Amino acid sequence: MRPAEEILAELGELRAGDLPTRGGRTLAYVYDSGLDGVDDLAAAAHAQAAGANGLDPTAFPSLLRMENDLVAAASRLLGGTPRAVGSVTSGGTESCMLAVLAAREGRTEVIAPNVVLPATAHAAFHKAAHLFRVRPVILPVDPVTFRADPDTMTAAIDDDTVLVVASAPSYAHGVLDPIAEIAAGAAARGVRMHVDACIGGWVLPYFRRLGRSVPEFGFTVDGVTSVSVDLHKYAYCPKGTSVLLHADAELRRGHFFADAGWPGYTMLNSTLQSTRSGGPLAAAWAVLHHLGDDGYLALAQASLDAVEVVRAEIEDIDGLRLVVEPNSTLLAITTDGEGLDLFTLADEMGDRGWYVQPQFAHQSSPANLHLTITAANRGGEAEFGAALRHSAAAAREAGPVVVDEGIAAFLEGLDPDALTAEEFGELLAAAGMGGGAGLPERMAEINAMLAIARPALRERLLQEFLGFLYRPS
Ligand SMILES: *Cc1c(COP(=O)(O)O)cnc(C)c1O
Repeated sequence: MRPAEEILAELGELRAGDLPTRGGRTLAYVYDSGLDGVDDLAAAAHAQAAGANGLDPTAFPSLLRMENDLVAAASRLLGGTPRAVGSVTSGGTESCMLAVLAAREGRTEVIAPNVVLPATAHAAFHKAAHLFRVRPVILPVDPVTFRADPDTMTAAIDDDTVLVVASAPSYAHGVLDPIAEIAAGAAARGVRMHVDACIGGWVLPYFRRLGRSVPEFGFTVDGVTSVSVDLHKYAYCPKGTSVLLHADAELRRGHFFADAGWPGYTMLNSTLQSTRSGGPLAAAWAVLHHLGDDGYLALAQASLDAVEVVRAEIEDIDGLRLVVEPNSTLLAITTDGEGLDLFTLADEMGDRGWYVQPQFAHQSSPANLHLTITAANRGGEAEFGAALRHSAAAAREAGPVVVDEGIAAFLEGLDPDALTAEEFGELLAAAGMGGGAGLPERMAEINAMLAIARPALRERLLQEFLGFLYRPS
């Protein structure tokens, strides 16, 4: 047997190549409270329960108890009545998927069900539609404010609509849809309405308490039937926990699954998983109790302050602006003029130790860089601003990334449905990843190629890329 220390040292070396999860310099994917001790507590709690199996809550009543505690806390925050129920899931995508599944199963008489979505709804709903064979009816949002349009959404509801969705806020732009109006339209047609508060649900109620004007978006709004909120985002819990709340138990039933049709144990699942580690659940339970209401209020204040200062830093830089006035903790940076390539700007930020997340142009939304601001960014705003200023100057100096004409023509001619291994190989080589080369240091050239590919082709290319990445070592 190899000694444990040696293996942990090897793991440490592998992890050293990752983006940092602490310190506020990774402005997507991770959420940092900036507080000492939270991670250690979460890790200890995780370790205590990691082997326990949520598959059978009667065998592991601690998990049942902790799940009910988490759902109660989420329900209190989001306006649930005593009739509200919920489930803890593995993440936002699973919560959104279960909302769609429950809605579909609540209307089994509908042969070709559809779900009405604003164009800004999270891709998790597209995934749900894809997996559960529910047709997504994707509607344009306001081209300037990026908010869903209640009239358009209400008009799109038909007899086969099982669910209407809106975001609080949307991931890409960080704006709240007009939840009350959309919910009213859905309720008038007797259709369920899901509010995706995966990213805002644990921070916006605190913003309201801090005096910010935040419209109601939870169960206090008439017509809202389910709400999702991710604990692994602004509740600062480790990855692997989200809560899906339903206004009442009847609405939840459709995502439960029971199967007695085999010789083993009767399979009884509340979520997509069957065996479910108690680790993430216990970690979330510990973090929630540790930080408490006061803790979350203080963390929300820190995030709110950081958003304002970071925003001012961005607006102070020549050629950069926000895509839209932010309603929450998410910012989208774009550029006014020619000559400042955003993908190069992202690489330049990377060179300076900051990760910002490129978002491609979509309808009226220009290419932009997404920032998820957390409490850990408080105090580091000027450092961020300096890095952004220097990166913008360097990106301007480097000039725009131009995709080689031959490659552009090649991309243009590719058929996403008939892409061959050879064609993909040629593109990998063009991207500097041919012949077993590792991941590239800089992404701007690759992003520029992806940006000119039609979305269907981009999807196909990235699926091939996944196949290329995931190979046994
Ligand atoms: C993060 C997010 C999701 C998906 O959550 P995962 O935890 O990444 O699966 C869904 N909706 C919104 C608005 C989000 O921000």
